[in-house]
Amino acid sequence: MLSIEEALETVADNVSPLETESVRLQHAHGRFLAEDVEGRVELPPFDGSAMDGYAIRSADAPGPLNIIGESAAGFPYNGPALSARTAVTISTGGVIPEGADAVVPVEDTTVDGDRVWVPNVVERDAHIRPAGSDIELGEPLLLAGARIGPAQIGAAAAGGLRELPCRRLPRVAVLTTGTELRPIGEPLGPGQIYDSNGPMLDAALRTAGGIVELIGAAADTPDAHREAFERALQHDVVISSGGVSVGEHDLVRDIGRELGVRELFWRVALRPGKPISFGMRDRTLVFGLPGNPVSTLVCFELFVRPALLSMQGAPEFRPAFGAGVLGSSVRRNPQRDDLIRVQVAWTSLKAGRRGSPVLLPLVGQQSHQIAITARAEGLARIPAGTGELAAGTEVSYLPLQ
Ligand code: AMP
Ligand code: MG
Repeated sequence: MLSIEEALETVADNVSPLETESVRLQHAHGRFLAEDVEGRVELPPFDGSAMDGYAIRSADAPGPLNIIGESAAGFPYNGPALSARTAVTISTGGVIPEGADAVVPVEDTTVDGDRVWVPNVVERDAHIRPAGSDIELGEPLLLAGARIGPAQIGAAAAGGLRELPCRRLPRVAVLTTGTELRPIGEPLGPGQIYDSNGPMLDAALRTAGGIVELIGAAADTPDAHREAFERALQHDVVISSGGVSVGEHDLVRDIGRELGVRELFWRVALRPGKPISFGMRDRTLVFGLPGNPVSTLVCFELFVRPALLSMQGAPEFRPAFGAGVLGSSVRRNPQRDDLIRVQVAWTSLKAGRRGSPVLLPLVGQQSHQIAITARAEGLARIPAGTGELAAGTEVSYLPLQ
């Protein structure tokens, strides 16, 4: 049986980044940049003023100066270059006129008609934002692998870019298995339950950039599985739930094999989620997640989200575990690492800052307990071993999105 790390590396080794496409800026939020990009202009594009005030020759200060014109933002001064003892009124973002080498803020001056009095010495270059001081032409404006958020969109727009080269988003098929499953809205017959993994995986995938096709629930017959998997295998990723254990009606791995899926692992030393399977058919990744809803969720976070992020070119795609301290003792599992559902309290709230996370295990840690899991804020990792971890022990935990 593989460890969680070995299983994750197997997934990572078999993921290749998807092709690059050009994405309109307004749709690029959340995407990953496929290559370095340069802007169309340097930033700022010209020497400009950082203050409202007067553009002057620093050598003329202190002293009285004649105001010879104005440079407003978007409306540069176009008179003759500044000569001795002259000044140009300037606004923040205005172009520094020829001959000026400093800006003196309006609050450091006194004005009388078309004369301005500068009482103090002014440093050369004061309050000037030189062209290219944010980024020069030829330097990359954004770097490959960057996740495009508001600041990256702002920088791209400042650089005049209408589109960004991004990795294409993965197309993901979700299929659930189980004769007992019914879609929401239908009445439940004896022994039936609602298909909760379908909607849950749909939501989880959207937060990971997946373009989801819901194939629906397949009954536990070879024909129903074959039909569902054939359709699903047309996608970049297939995610099934259920039918990967050793029961009589667990058909996912057999049907996968029959359809040409090469299995790379089955079973991971993990609770919940041990019977997860992973394989490939050509470039399609095939995840067989166990059917218990909490197992499905845990396996999604440990293996599927990382795979999707890696396909999109994210350099940091592994689960973002942080450190927390157990708020109560936890019994360990001798064979498998346990990912228990926890609420997260914070030690203190001082000066607008959170303290450190205290992990409070929920009561009800079985893999069918999705309602209890809905109250969890994280998954704490309890390493396999004997005895228990005492309250106060530091462990890794993964915040749930
Ligand atoms: P399986 O992995 O197929 O043996 O299923 C394990 C447990 O998870 C059984 O109790 C199933 O009824 C349940 N289960 C399987 N698929 C789903 C699903 N899509 N939604 C909710 N529960 C499920
Ligand atoms: Mg089943």
